[in-house]
Amino acid sequence: MGSGITIENVTKRYGAFVAADRICLDIQPGEFVTLLGPSGSGKTTLLNLLAGFQRVDGGEIRVDGKPIQNVPVHKRGFGMVFQSYALFPNMTVAQNVGFPMRMAGISRADSDRRVAETLGMMQLSDSAAKMPSEMSGGQQQRVAIARSIVMRPKVVLMDEPLSALDRRLRESIQMEIRDLHRTIGSTFLFVTHDQSEALTMSDRIAVMDAGRIIQVDRPETIYRQPCNRFVAGFVGESNLIDAEIVRREGAALVLRTKTGHLFRSPAPDEVSGRNVTVLVRPERLILSDVPGQESIPARVKSALFLGEILRIEVTLDSGETLLVRCSDSAGQTLPTPGSTVHVSWGMSDGWVLA
Ligand code: ATP
Repeated sequence: MGSGITIENVTKRYGAFVAADRICLDIQPGEFVTLLGPSGSGKTTLLNLLAGFQRVDGGEIRVDGKPIQNVPVHKRGFGMVFQSYALFPNMTVAQNVGFPMRMAGISRADSDRRVAETLGMMQLSDSAAKMPSEMSGGQQQRVAIARSIVMRPKVVLMDEPLSALDRRLRESIQMEIRDLHRTIGSTFLFVTHDQSEALTMSDRIAVMDAGRIIQVDRPETIYRQPCNRFVAGFVGESNLIDAEIVRREGAALVLRTKTGHLFRSPAPDEVSGRNVTVLVRPERLILSDVPGQESIPARVKSALFLGEILRIEVTLDSGETLLVRCSDSAGQTLPTPGSTVHVSWGMSDGWVLA
């Protein structure tokens, strides 16, 4: 079973620059948590603080309740994978994977058994005798992943392990890492700047910006109910519609768009003031040729056929441009640029940003 990790008010400075700013994060035993954020947001810094490559300047990190600041890297016993595979070039695949066991003084027989089992988990059984230089990038990263889990660590840290690989390979190794996590039950902390990777892999995502955690939630909550414009814009494509609050009705607000149309939208309790921004994801917008009771007229700006989906941009009378994505279904025709369409969305398809 994996370890529980508590990160409490952790701060890291490089001179006057604050790379991690009073970060708090509780990770449950066996959870798969992803740190997601743009370049420079502090993801690697936080992972390095946890690994012990760097020392915290303030706050505390506890693993299973015990502070680890003074525990050296090798005694933390975490599995680690980096973007560069960092394999030993002069060792075979089996020797690379068995290296941590040799360092720990585990008997040859036990080590061989565990290495064989771990190679099997990563579909590497046939490659045990190969040298890293004989393998593709994806296979080398599989070896590095196998090496990180051979000791069945309670915590596995992965820093952008798939970013050097092409998309198809990345997607297949994503699934392998997910399965591996389920099989060994360790706690995984995974760093990426790729939002779709974070959405597919994680139990929870911590979105970071400028050294802080902005939101920690399950993937669907991050996508459907982002806490602010930054998260909405960083995870997925978003339409941000300005609106004025008319009144509150329980958990929803009655709102008026700049074009004067009324609609209802769920909103977090803390929303206040007069004007708000409403997020509606492109796949939630509906286009129609005929006006409806709750629809807003718009002009088609562009329309693209992308295979399984159509990507259409429309402009409202207010000047706001909305992106619409709809699946290519039977009878669906691509609207002509310049033509008039009617845009609508269901009440539960909007989300008022706080
Ligand atoms: P990336 O996705 O590009 O790896 P990141 O989110 O992992 O980004 P970090 O590597 O944690 O970001 O860096 C956070 C900030 O701290 C960056 O602005 C970086 O320039 C700065 N930084 C990181 N390491 C050092 C260092 N050793 N000395 C000075 N500044 C550093």
